[in-house]
Amino acid sequence: MQIWSIRFGSFITPGDRYSDMAAWVCTKCGYVYDERFGDPEHGIVAGTLFEKIPDTWVCPRCKAAKPFFAKKKV
Ligand SMILES: [Zn+2]
Repeated sequence: MQIWSIRFGSFITPGDRYSDMAAWVCTKCGYVYDERFGDPEHGIVAGTLFEKIPDTWVCPRCKAAKPFFAKKKV
């Protein structure tokens, strides 16, 4: 029972990983950053959490900085 619990706790499927991902909405223009897709045109690979995006990144549409984004459950 203990061994099973430990193994289960450390076993992560791609599905689990993606279920934690969220989308972030720009409160200025409505642009949506989806963590599952990233922003490849601006060097952010798919699967990048919003927190992991460099602070130099801005909204591709209106140039708003990261603090202007609000989290939204997918
Ligand atoms: Zn924007």
